[in-house]
Amino acid sequence: MSPRQKHIEDFRAKDDLIVVAGAGGFIAGALVRYFHDKGFKRIRAIDKKPLADWYQRTPGVENLCLDLSFRDNCARACEGAVEVYQLAADMGGMGFIERFRVECLRSVLINTHMIEAAYRAGADRYFFSSSACAYNTDLQQDMRCRALKESDAYPAMAERGYGWEKLFSEIVCQEYWAERGFQTFIARFHNVYGPNGTWDGGREKAPAALSRKVIEALDKGTGTIEIWGDGTRTRSFMYIDDCVNGIDMITHCDKLVATPINLGTSELVSVNELLTIIEEAAGAKLKRTYDPSAPKGVGGRNSDNTMIKEILDWEPSTPLRKGMAKTYAWIEEQYRLRKAGQRTVV
Ligand code: NAD
Repeated sequence: MSPRQKHIEDFRAKDDLIVVAGAGGFIAGALVRYFHDKGFKRIRAIDKKPLADWYQRTPGVENLCLDLSFRDNCARACEGAVEVYQLAADMGGMGFIERFRVECLRSVLINTHMIEAAYRAGADRYFFSSSACAYNTDLQQDMRCRALKESDAYPAMAERGYGWEKLFSEIVCQEYWAERGFQTFIARFHNVYGPNGTWDGGREKAPAALSRKVIEALDKGTGTIEIWGDGTRTRSFMYIDDCVNGIDMITHCDKLVATPINLGTSELVSVNELLTIIEEAAGAKLKRTYDPSAPKGVGGRNSDNTMIKEILDWEPSTPLRKGMAKTYAWIEEQYRLRKAGQRTVV
């Protein structure tokens, strides 16, 4: 165990109740598995989706199906909690967040009720999953954008809907600390990808969407793939294992109380480059067509990791090629299962 891991373990007992919200989804589902694998005995996982639709279900965990936009459900969710991880949100890739801004904004109900419930339950620590969409969009128009550092959220001009909700909910976390002394921790995730995430249905993000399109093209023998935009927009992508490790480290770092911090990689790639990496995983080469009218988001967005390296002496480091190979293989399997009429994650 590294000295940092040892330090994290000193904060809590293995029978402390850990509450994870949004656990039927991608990241929170992986976080539940992570805590379980670390030996935590009391984990409560919550999502509004029926249990049958959860992406992962970890054995020995208390799973609750509750809509956390209601105050009483949040109170039930947080009863007896020592740590609360709030990742529930109505969200998706660009196609979803550009079209359903009201839905995204309404996640403010989850965030305001959950933090109050966690505070009233006497929890020690509260983690909130913010997003790089909280950053000022004026700084992200160029594909060769400079990486975004934490102070770039202000002056504020967040992504409409989704980004503003995240920025407001960050402020809520900061004021619960300033006014009530409740320890909150805030990570701004930059595109997370990996197995057990959304890969079809309209909420999927670029790595999963492009993987599925490659698999479909190969399966149907079309030989072509359509890309949203012109393929030059740039992003960085973080593998899920780095994300859950980062959440744990951030939530147990006293220097980071109520301090938003980037959680992402600084390996910037264009959509075209991402597709090339996926084609390598597939062992195929497709003809590319472009749809300039499709939702595409800001020109470029990257994570400046100066702060996380300085404070945690760590940054997400799984190479995109390695993470995408695992993700592609998982989506290929999902595609095959669905074709065979079996149950899959979507
Ligand atoms: P996801 O959609 O897979 O998971 C979110 C889960 O929240 C879903 O299972 C959904 O059913 C649940 N949920 C929504 N409304 C709810 C409600 N009212 N009550 C209870 N559960 C509810 O998304 P994800 O990718 O796992 O994202 C998790 C968190 O990380 C979100 O807050 C998201 O905004 C943030 N985030 C994700 C990314 C990314 O790249 N995936 C990037 C930035 C920020």
